[in-house]
Amino acid sequence: MKSLSIVYGFVILLGTFAGLRASEAQVRTTMDTVQTAADTLLSMVLSGKPENNYFPEFAKEKLKWIENQYGAGQLQIAVVGEPGANLNSTGLMAAGIVGGKQTIIIPRVRFDEWLTDSGRRSAPFTRQQKNDFMLGLVHEAVHLQNPGAGNPNNLNDFVREELRAWREVTLNGVRPLRNLKEPMSRRFIEVDDAFAVCGESYRQCKLLGDLLFSAFPAAHAEWERAIVRLVPPLR
Ligand SMILES: [Zn+2]
Repeated sequence: MKSLSIVYGFVILLGTFAGLRASEAQVRTTMDTVQTAADTLLSMVLSGKPENNYFPEFAKEKLKWIENQYGAGQLQIAVVGEPGANLNSTGLMAAGIVGGKQTIIIPRVRFDEWLTDSGRRSAPFTRQQKNDFMLGLVHEAVHLQNPGAGNPNNLNDFVREELRAWREVTLNGVRPLRNLKEPMSRRFIEVDDAFAVCGESYRQCKLLGDLLFSAFPAAHAEWERAIVRLVPPLR
């Protein structure tokens, strides 16, 4: 099959990239660093490599699906120059339909911050960086595979779909990796702990709602509004 690689996506997604005019050379260097890092991490986590046997079956299945969709020309992975206004700024990745194609979006600025914060901006990447990147891809695959994901610009759909995807990836991806004592971002661990505490009432769980949506006030407000609807009124 074709080898999987990431394309610059800012043109198709946003049309312009103002930063290039400000400091073209510098931005280009950053862009190349980020592109190379994303390509390298992608090649590390895909293709059923024997060293990735420890990945949970659920994760392997989603990664295989990404490869198959890519091979069939139905999916692209794009490094996007600037995060769009509707991208959740705390997310390492996003997913959607761009130009009629399923697309996993890697916002350049956010991704660059993550590379710096998580330890290394170029190969060799740490085991935690590899695990986090893999979990990000799996999360986006869960979104893309759901025909009922709704409209991400509709806050109610967005909140419902994020809760669903986080739960699925946490229980089937994060938790098995934690049991193996694999390193991963603190955020994955905090969300896993919150799902454990909240149990079946996770949709009404303040701990979880705050963790997932606090950096996104509109979604947080919608989440609170939905809770009010779900909780039976006091008599
Ligand atoms: Zn998501």
